[in-house]
Order: sequence, then C-alpha cells, then structure tokens
Amino acid sequence: MATKTKSNEKYVYFFGGGKADGNESMKNLLGGKGANLAEMAGHKNLKLPVPPGFTITTEVCTYYYDNDRTYPRVLDSQIQNAVESIEKLMGKKFGDKKDPLLLSVRSGARRSMPGMMDTVLNLGLNDQTVLGLIEKSGDERFSYDAYRRLVMMYADVVIEKAGGLEPVKGVGIRKLMDEKLEKMKKDRGVELDTELSASDLKTLVKEFKALIKKHLKVDFPEDPWQQLMGGVGAVFASWNGKRAIEYRRIERIPDQWGTAVNVQAMVFGNMGEDSCTGVAFTRNPGNGDNHFYGEYLVNAQGEDVVAGIRTPAPINNLSKNDHSKHLTTLEKLMPEQYKELDAIQRKLERHYMDMQDIEFTIEKGNLYMLQCRVGKRNGVAAVKMATDMYKEKLIDAQTAIMRVGPHQLVELLLPMIDPETEKLAKVVAKGLPAGPGGAIGRVVFTSEEAADWALRGEKVILVREETSPEDVDGMHKAQAILTSKGGMTSHAALVARGWGKCCIVGCSEIEILAKDKVLITSKGQRIHEGEWISLNGTKGLVYEGVLPLKAADLSKNESYKTLMKLVEKEKRLGVRTNADTPKDAQQAAYFGAEGIGLFRTEHMFYGEGSEFPLFLLRKMIMATCEKDRVAALDELAVFVKKDIKATLEAMHGYPVTIRLLDPPLHEFVPHDKNKLQELAKELGVRVSVLNRRVLALHENNPMLGHRGVRLGVSYPEITEMQVRAILEATGELIKEGKSANPEIMVPVTMGKHELRHQREIVDRVYKQVCKKLKLEKIPYLFGTMIEIPRAALKANSMAEEADFFSFGTNDLTQMSFGFSRDDIGGFLPKYLDLKLLPDDPFVTIDQSGVGELIKIGVERGRSVKPSLKVGICGEHGGDAESVKFCHRLGMNYVSCSPFRVPIARLAAAQAAIEEKMALN
Ligand code: ADP
Ligand code: MG
Ligand code: MG
Repeated sequence: MATKTKSNEKYVYFFGGGKADGNESMKNLLGGKGANLAEMAGHKNLKLPVPPGFTITTEVCTYYYDNDRTYPRVLDSQIQNAVESIEKLMGKKFGDKKDPLLLSVRSGARRSMPGMMDTVLNLGLNDQTVLGLIEKSGDERFSYDAYRRLVMMYADVVIEKAGGLEPVKGVGIRKLMDEKLEKMKKDRGVELDTELSASDLKTLVKEFKALIKKHLKVDFPEDPWQQLMGGVGAVFASWNGKRAIEYRRIERIPDQWGTAVNVQAMVFGNMGEDSCTGVAFTRNPGNGDNHFYGEYLVNAQGEDVVAGIRTPAPINNLSKNDHSKHLTTLEKLMPEQYKELDAIQRKLERHYMDMQDIEFTIEKGNLYMLQCRVGKRNGVAAVKMATDMYKEKLIDAQTAIMRVGPHQLVELLLPMIDPETEKLAKVVAKGLPAGPGGAIGRVVFTSEEAADWALRGEKVILVREETSPEDVDGMHKAQAILTSKGGMTSHAALVARGWGKCCIVGCSEIEILAKDKVLITSKGQRIHEGEWISLNGTKGLVYEGVLPLKAADLSKNESYKTLMKLVEKEKRLGVRTNADTPKDAQQAAYFGAEGIGLFRTEHMFYGEGSEFPLFLLRKMIMATCEKDRVAALDELAVFVKKDIKATLEAMHGYPVTIRLLDPPLHEFVPHDKNKLQELAKELGVRVSVLNRRVLALHENNPMLGHRGVRLGVSYPEITEMQVRAILEATGELIKEGKSANPEIMVPVTMGKHELRHQREIVDRVYKQVCKKLKLEKIPYLFGTMIEIPRAALKANSMAEEADFFSFGTNDLTQMSFGFSRDDIGGFLPKYLDLKLLPDDPFVTIDQSGVGELIKIGVERGRSVKPSLKVGICGEHGGDAESVKFCHRLGMNYVSCSPFRVPIARLAAAQAAIEEKMALN
C-alpha cells in the first residue's frame, strides 16, 4: 500500500488497511498525531481500526516557509496517489457524485498543541456530492449536517484564519454562523443541533455560503480538490497563526519544527442514534486512578465533545460526575462496542507503557480509532500513575522517576482552601473539578482583561462560558479558570491540566453576562468584575469572597512517599534548605531536606519577637566607640546563641550553614523622624547624634557597599560575637549529648586575604570557647560564599582558606550581568519577548555565563583542595534545570526554600538518571 513515487523525496506517508509507511518513532517527520496514527494502524501488535489516510511531512512545512509558501513539485502527485489508495480501501471516490469519499484534514506537530491548529472535516462535499451522500446513506439530515459543518469550518479555518482576514467588526465568521444556527433553533423551538431537520440544515448551508460571500468576499469552493488543497494550505499557514505562536512561546516549542498534515477518510459519529464520538483516557487524568475514563456524545461529530456544546455522557459508571450521572453510559448503550474499545485501550496502554488519551468514533455500530497520544495529567495524577505503573511492573523505577515533571510536584504541595473555613463557607456554585488546588482571585470576563490585570499585579480568576485557543495568554496569567460550559475534556480543562492550574469547568449554575461584566448564580447572587471569589478546583466548588489557603498534607499521599523513596535511591546530590527559623527547618526536614544550606543571622532582627534584639543591634550600630559597641554586642550575643542553638538542635546533627551578618548596617536603623526620636530616647542620646550616625551610614549603592565580610573587617568584634555564639551553642549541645554540625560562612568575599582575616578571628575564638567549655574539640567547618565574580576566578587561593564554598547565585548573577535583581522588572519582559535572553537569569541559572563562573570556581577550588565541599544557596536551588546543572558540576548539595525541597530532590534523581542514560 506504500505510496510509490519516482522522486527520491518522500513527502507523503500512507496508513490504513493494516499497514503503514511510518511509525511511532517518526514524530519529528510525521508529527505526533501522524506517527501515532501510523503506529495504531500498522504495528503488528496493534492493527487497530483506523480510517485510512496519509501524513504530509513536516519537511513540507519547512519547504513551504522557505519557498515563499509553495510546495515541492512532486507533492501533488504523491497526494493524488495516496488519495487513490484511500479510495481503493474505502470503495468510494473523492468528489464522486454517486458515492463520495469524504476526508478530514488535521494538523499535527511533533508535540501536541491542543486546539492550536484547526481541523476541517467532511471535505469533498458540495451541492452535487451531497446528493450522492444522501442517496448512499439514506439520511438527508445527516448529510446536510455534515455539509453545514464543512462550510462553517472551511470558512473559519481556511478562508478567514489561514487567509489572514480580519474578522468583520471583530466578529469572526464562525460567530456569525453560530448566530444563524442559534436563530434557526430558536425559530424552530428546539434546543439541540440534533433536533434541526434536514431542510433546516439545508437552509443553513445556503445562508452560510451567503455569509461567506458577503463578509469574506469569496465563494465557497465547490471543487473537492480545491477544498482539499485549501485545507492542507490552511494547516501550514496556521503554524504561523497568532494562537500557535503564542502557545509555542509559552510551551517553548521551537518555531522551526513545523507541522505535519494528516488527511484521513471520514467516519461519522453523527449518523444517528447508533453512532457517537468520544474522548477517553486509559486512566483518570484528574487523580491518576487506574480505570478507563472518558466522555462521549451520541449522534455527534468531531469537536462537539471538546467544544462543550452538549453535556457529554460518561463512557462508564466510573466516569460519571454530578453533571452527567443521569446520562446513559456507552457501556450500557453499546455494550459490544464498549467492550471492544476497552480491549483496545488496554492494549494501547500496554503498548505505549503510559497513559493514553484517545479519540474514537462509532459509525453505525462500527468502532474507529482516530487518535492516541500520551495523555496530559495533573501533578497528583502524574505521581500516582508513575508509582502505580511501577508497582504493576509496567515500567521500572527510573522511568517512574522520569515520568513526573519536577514542576508537577508543586501541585501536590499546592495550597488548598483551608478545610476548616471551607466547611463553614457557603458554596455559590458547583462545577467539574478540572484542575486541582485552591485559588483566590478577582473575577474578570475576558482573557485580555486577565492579562492586563495580572500585569498590574492583580490576582484574577478568568470566568468564561468556555475557552478557546485565543484565550491561552489570559488563562496562563490567571490564578484559575472557571467556565460555565464544557466537560472534563473541554479546552479549558485540557489546557489547565497541562499547566497544573486550578480550574473548574461546566459550572452550569452560573450565568455569565460578559457585556455587563457580571455573573449570576442560580440562586440569583450577582458577582461583578473585580470582586473576589475562591475556588476549590479539587472538588469543583465556587465561593464568594476570599477564603484562606492552606498548604497540602503530604503525609497522607502514599504515591508521593513511594516516589520519594525511589528518588532517594537514585540521587547523588544532597538537598538542603534555606531556613532562618526552627519552624522553617522542621518544615524542610519533613520534605526531606538534609541540612540547612543557608541560615541568615539577620532574620532575628525582622518580624515576630525581633523588637528587643533589634534594639540591641541598633544600640551596637549607634555606638560611637568600640567599648560601647562591645557592650551592646555582649547583650546581643545571648539572643544570637539561643537562636542558633535551637536551629542546630532541630536539625539533629545535619549540617547547618550559618552565614555571618550580611546586610549593610544602615538597613537596620530607623529612617523616619519619630522612630529616630524614640530610639534616641531609649538609648539616652541626643537625636542630632543619631542623625549624624545615620548620615554617616548612608550609601549611594548599598548592594555594593559596606556589607558582608566588609563589616567583619571594619568591626571584627561583630564577627567575633557571632562565631562565639555559634561555637558555644555547638559545644553546649555536644555536652548535652546531642550532635551539631555548624558551618560558619563568610559572605561577599572577593579574595583569600579577607578570608584569612576572618579565619584568624575564628581560630582565636575557637581556642577560647574550647577552654571555657572544657572541650577538646568542637566540630565546625569554615567556608565562604562565592558571589562575586572575582571570588570565582580566585577560587584556587580562596580554597586554601576554606573548607567549603557555597555559590550565592542570586548575587553572582546580579554582579555578572550587572542587573539589579530588584529592578530587573523594568526591562526583562522586553528582553524575553525579543529573545535577547532565553530565561529570567534569576530563576534559571544562566548556564553558559554565570554557570561558567561556577564551573571555574568548582574546578579551581577542588584543584587545590579535592575535599572541598561545594553547594549553592539562593533561589536557583529550587529550579529543576539549575539543580541538574549543579549535579553535572559534581556539587555536594543544593539548598533551596523549604517548599522547593521535594522538587530539588526529584530533579537531582532525574539528573543522576540522565547521566546514566548518557553513559549507556
Ligand atoms: P485536535 O488536535 O484538536 O484534537 P483533531 O485533528 O484530532 O484535532 O480533530 C478534531 C476532531 O475531529 C476530533 O474529535 C477528531 O476525532 C475528529 N476527526 C478528525 N478526523 C476525523 C475523521 N477522519 N473522521 C471522523 N472524525 C474525525
Ligand atoms: Mg484542532
Ligand atoms: Mg484530537
């Protein structure tokens, strides 16, 4: 059945009749959809009932854009041959007046871009062939239904969108046609499309064509081949449509990939009550449960399920929800076909060894498979499926670990509406739980608004009847999405699931008056634009106002625990946390942190309980001579020691890296007049004295000013006090029979002489403390942060004075780029837009620049001291890509904020697996 051509260039790959030119491994060439259609149709273990068709390769897309939107010369004949092959298998001819073959044209990029590219169904119908279809099918209503769908899709997708026509007065042709359809239903007094008669539909076809002529200034093409090639061209053109470009930007799909085009014989789910179309998943994509899950619509075609036009029915009992529980299941309605479908889905999952998302159509009792692909799932489901499949021995441990995206773990840690408060709150509406977690935000009704408000820093929830690909930008920027229509397989649900966003769909208890910017609940409550609502996406509940959000409880999640056990076996890189309080430390330990990588001494001067220590600190700062300063420091030492001791104790001997005081002193002095007066009174000095001191401390560029080790050099007594507190706390814990392992870390160093200066203080204090506590030795390490580019370059000499390095990647990035991390917002969006930077370097380590400095730092440091312990602290420690980078550099650990610890652990395990795979 393979398409033969004289040319060497094969642009068209055929599938059908139990054979296929391509297979699943050819995604780059055939796109995801085409490769999987070939696999389903042709693989010896599958040979599923797939309507015959062919795939035009992505190379043609590339050619098309490289050659002024033209095709390779041989393409035409290859397409004609392939259509002939379909005709032979189907026993019908394309364009035949008696028994026409109808075709669909579908896009398919390497990675699925749901809803991004448009499909045109029923190509080949015109005023002549429709008569043949009526004749053959004996069903006039069905035939005109197919015809009016073709005219509508063709006008929208091919003529308007791909033709780049601006919609008339902002209203697209599809909308105009929808209005005609709605009017027709109203005139006839019916509710559903399916209730319209053949002659109604025939009238609609005429009206639609007139609309095309009037608004788009062209005729609907009656010639089937013109239709087909128009459809093919539209798919290629849509690759550079606005929606596709937007989606690629968000999902980081390269523009060069291009899309393939799939042409396939039509099968009809709209041929009456023994026909249907559906979408299903081999496991529940919402929670990962191992049961077949899906929705279908009787007497419907193609996108009706996804578009949420009617409420889809559940395929089986386990797929029922509150909206659909009264509807007949496919299992009950067509038991035989259901059984066949169930067998196929099992086969597919075993074959692909992963959860599959499938599309099927039943035409007059005959089942056809139209698509399969690895199904999107939310984080909760991803973890459950990966660990379940591991236990079922479908996949091995390493595959299970690789199956979960580190960012997906975030969803397990996702805040939920506080259950105690929720119990008391009144539900204003209920919908389908399409995306888990809780969210609060202000209501907006358009995606433009969502984007605008979000840009102003507002938290918004996008409320729509349903969403379409045009909405992705606003959806992305919203906290959550709420739709009044659509089911669990609707556009909103699919997209939100992919992003792990809180989402409720099919919330029919609200009515949206978008023009008036208000929604009305079935109980008559009105919620206006800008008003707050809260969503429970796990249960599908909507509340008015702001409910408090609460962190999730992982201790009850068995799949998570299983996954983390597997992770622990694979990972080599340690994961610590940045924690300033015993409470943070405990939280992080619970998430599996193996120590603290950054404990900031200054935290004790901020927030709860900080008043007195801050007062003492200020006293110290305001001191005008060393004697006064030492006196104030002695008082302060008590607090510092207590704090450090509690944290060391909470970590049970895990290492705790304690950073010496880092911020410039002027950060701690009050700046307004009243506060200064108060302080003067408390300190018993004149305000003018204080003022002079404040002025003296003022700096033009404090980030590059008198801070970090520079403080310790100017005021050695500050270093001394802290070191004493650390060593005494440790010594005391040791004497109490506990274990403690502090690591004293000097910030903002630029060379070895600074470090030696501080080390001499530590050595001196160490001897004193040992003597005082009558201890032979007290465990501790001495090291430094590397956050100044010079320090990275001088790492060899720095290593002579240090037991460890910790790369402070926030400051290192700031100083390498010369970007102020507090002011980057002013220009970064433009940089990302213009692709002058691939990422925000403060989120993901700039591997080729800053990363190079880190690499140099590690190499030079270890060349002098092979045992040098190396880690990073800073926000990058919780970014999966950055964690993997650290693994590759052979670091000992990364340190991140408590809630990122599980993500970093997973990323560390994945890095180890990737390394093994690269070696094999
Ligand atoms: P998407 O990428 O949006 O899923 P598809 O190309 O899968 O788009 O097609 C949209 C809808 O049209 C799907 O429901 C699909 O099942 C249906 N469809 C596509 N081709 C055919 C065909 N040959 N026969 C019947 N239905 C089809
Ligand atoms: Mg589509
Ligand atoms: Mg599809």
